[in-house]
Amino acid sequence: MSERDMIPGLRGELRTGEPMAKHVSWRAGGAARVFYTPANVADLCAFLRTRPADEPILFVGLGSNLLVRDGGFPGAVVMTHHALTGIEFVAEPGVARPTFKAGAGVPLPHLARFAAKHGAGGGEWMAGVPGTVGGALTMNAGCYGGETWDHVIVAETVDRHGNLRLRKPADYAIGYRHLALREANEEWFLSGVFAFERGDEAASMQRMKELLSKRVASQPLNQPNAGSVFRNPEGDHAARLIESCALKGFAIGGAQVSTKHANFIVNLGTATAADIESLVMHVRDVVRGRTGVELHPEVRIVGDAK
Ligand SMILES: Cc1cc2nc3c(=O)[nH]c(=O)nc-3n(C[C@H](O)[C@H](O)[C@H](O)COP(=O)(O)OP(=O)(O)OC[C@H]3O[C@@H](n4cnc5c(N)ncnc54)[C@H](O)[C@@H]3O)c2cc1C
Repeated sequence: MSERDMIPGLRGELRTGEPMAKHVSWRAGGAARVFYTPANVADLCAFLRTRPADEPILFVGLGSNLLVRDGGFPGAVVMTHHALTGIEFVAEPGVARPTFKAGAGVPLPHLARFAAKHGAGGGEWMAGVPGTVGGALTMNAGCYGGETWDHVIVAETVDRHGNLRLRKPADYAIGYRHLALREANEEWFLSGVFAFERGDEAASMQRMKELLSKRVASQPLNQPNAGSVFRNPEGDHAARLIESCALKGFAIGGAQVSTKHANFIVNLGTATAADIESLVMHVRDVVRGRTGVELHPEVRIVGDAK
């Protein structure tokens, strides 16, 4: 029986053997055994209910913090980008600040601009993070003093039985590029409600422009990458430590420590996921050996080695 025959009437797009290199910003890595882009939340819930209890499930947004090993992901990928894309101004009871609901598949820069256009300030930092709302909620993405969960009023989640829940920030342990549900349950994000300060559209647009130029000046945005590879250790910068170990430009296969920003690894064009992962481990080992500091990867590496 084919995957689609298992779920009569399922809408959305269901594929098998989908190359994940097409869906991650590193442009490398293996295939997903099953790959589903839902038409809407109801279809997503129906899809999740049909999955075997032991099948790994991976939600993917823009793949800007993700690597699937060359042997592929032995389960079902749910693609939220191009799905779950609703965005609207909402009135939250008891919340006076401008508030917006955005689907998990909405690109974060889109939320930043939408909020600014509707008179909200303080979300300008989101304009330069090339991920989705779902990815940002999961990673507690942030930069330039802002963090995703600083803005969250409530988030909607789904579990593998298709049950929907409204989650409050208090339901999570929230840290720097870290989020963990306090309760033991496997859940994924469908949407979030975000509150901002009152702002001025022109000033917000100008601020976004300035922050984006900072990125262009300091990050290798013309080469496939996944942003910062390692979290910054307390009181220091991963990039500084990596540079101090003379690793800028060091390459394994087609993966190279960026010559522009030492905490970025770029795909020179032919990198495999194994090249990238080996380089991540090499950098971690060299930095540990020379400085005594243990760097922890921020990027998520999943799936099977070839
Ligand atoms: C050039 C560049 C610059 C970057 N700058 C920054 C920055 O300044 N600050 C920063 O924090 N990050 C930065 N990043 C990293 C990345 O953009 C963020 O981590 C972003 O939040 C990831 O979103 P995504 O949709 O691409 O997630 P993905 O890469 O698709 O997924 C990342 C993780 O989130 C999980 N996930 C995705 N969607 C969901 C969902 N709906 N429910 C549950 N889990 C989900 C995935 O399973 C995976 O574990 C940068 C990346 C690049 C390429």
